[in-house]
Amino acid sequence: MNKSYDVLIRNAQVYDGEGGQPTNVDVAVESDRIARIGSLDGCTAKLEVEASGLVLSPGFIDVHTHDDFAALLHPDMGFKSRGGVTTCIVGNCGFGAAPFSEAINNLGTLVPSAGIVPYEGHAGYAAAVESSAPGVNIGVLAGHGTIRKAAVGSVDRDLTDRELSEMKEYLLEALDAGVFGISSGLSYDPGRYARTDELVELVSVMRGTGALYATHMRDEATGLAESVAEAIEIGARGGVGVQISHHKARGRESWGLVNESLKLIEAAQLRGEDVHADQYPYTAGSTSLKTVLENGAFAQGNGAGAMRNVPPADVVIASAPGHSDWEGRSFAELSAEFNQAPITVAQIIVGQAPGTTVILHMMSEEDVQRVLRHPSTMIGSDGIPTLEGKPHPRLYNSFARVLGHYARDLGLFDLSTAIYRMCGFPARKFGLRDRGVVKEGAFADLVLFDAGTVIDMGTFENPNQYPVGIRQVFVNGRVAVLDGEVLPLRHGRVLRRSV
Ligand SMILES: [Zn+2]
Repeated sequence: MNKSYDVLIRNAQVYDGEGGQPTNVDVAVESDRIARIGSLDGCTAKLEVEASGLVLSPGFIDVHTHDDFAALLHPDMGFKSRGGVTTCIVGNCGFGAAPFSEAINNLGTLVPSAGIVPYEGHAGYAAAVESSAPGVNIGVLAGHGTIRKAAVGSVDRDLTDRELSEMKEYLLEALDAGVFGISSGLSYDPGRYARTDELVELVSVMRGTGALYATHMRDEATGLAESVAEAIEIGARGGVGVQISHHKARGRESWGLVNESLKLIEAAQLRGEDVHADQYPYTAGSTSLKTVLENGAFAQGNGAGAMRNVPPADVVIASAPGHSDWEGRSFAELSAEFNQAPITVAQIIVGQAPGTTVILHMMSEEDVQRVLRHPSTMIGSDGIPTLEGKPHPRLYNSFARVLGHYARDLGLFDLSTAIYRMCGFPARKFGLRDRGVVKEGAFADLVLFDAGTVIDMGTFENPNQYPVGIRQVFVNGRVAVLDGEVLPLRHGRVLRRSV
């Protein structure tokens, strides 16, 4: 049957996104879906792409982002699509997009928020994203911290039934608007004040809906195992799936503890529980300086908080609004310059530039690789979209780094496994219907890349660089990125949970 399609991609090595071995076939796209896969010699298309020597895979799904406001402020989302990402899950670490004023006060401490026009609830947020016409698809998580702040403010105590009911109302509105679950940020204010029972009670609202519980845990350092156990308990008692965010062991004294946390995940899976994790492929993390201070990073001795005694040389300023001269400098350097203790310097900086973000060099490469190899792990950048300054290079480069550095160069796993971790696996976990796979009838979110050259380019010194080797990106059947250039027309959608 000789037919004409909208797009015909010929002779690529096609990966199905579900872990299957590649096949050399043609892929035809009609409107926003993959219409046919096979040998399509006699067929034609409005756009024909000769892709010999290139890999065609489903577009990458970034399950861990903080792009809630970036989708409104920078709707082309080129900082993601140029790295092959076609879908972002926003609303992680307890930082949700609604209610609006709490989102501005809460997520706004981590990412830029100036210029966001108010909206009403998660339905209003979804409508705002739709009218901004983002360049990639956006799936949303509600944020426990944002909802708690709206219901009770920053209080450190058990909640009354009435307060809990109010939180449930906010979550129900989010679920009606199609969110894929709720995230928590239990080392942040106010998420850290939530007791386990509160979280169980809240997530129980989602039982049977397919929505999941994603969590930035209380303690990713010496308390890692207890924190993973808490996350698993919340999922089991609440009757929902669990997604452990940015799985890692932070701080030298905690290195190696991922052996225990991975065993806890395996044990939960053996009991039939739906527990997985995501990870960014670096030994450094990034967060707001305010959070670092609140978690006692610079406190001497047995300081309060989960970070404890982080060497000042390992904490580097990523972005400091209005103070670009501080960017790229460590607290060891700044402490010498200010002639003050690191904790005092941090307090001064938070006072002068509250939105300051930092990079923390705190994981072991061995742990990063152990978590990455483990079959429970999918990829999530956790990028903080402060496009000025020196953001952590994971923002642009996470997926190319897994493909090029960890899969091809270090051989942690084969290419089909790497692609599965970025595509079919997260699509199934989050319930993104007809995405993350190359098969007839699925949405045509696609990426063409050169498996021999794809690699991350951003460094901590010079992070604002895009990966190389990503040739062409399609979002809902249309070209979004061509040879490193973001095209002006944007084709992303708001994705909504369907039961
Ligand atoms: Zn987090």
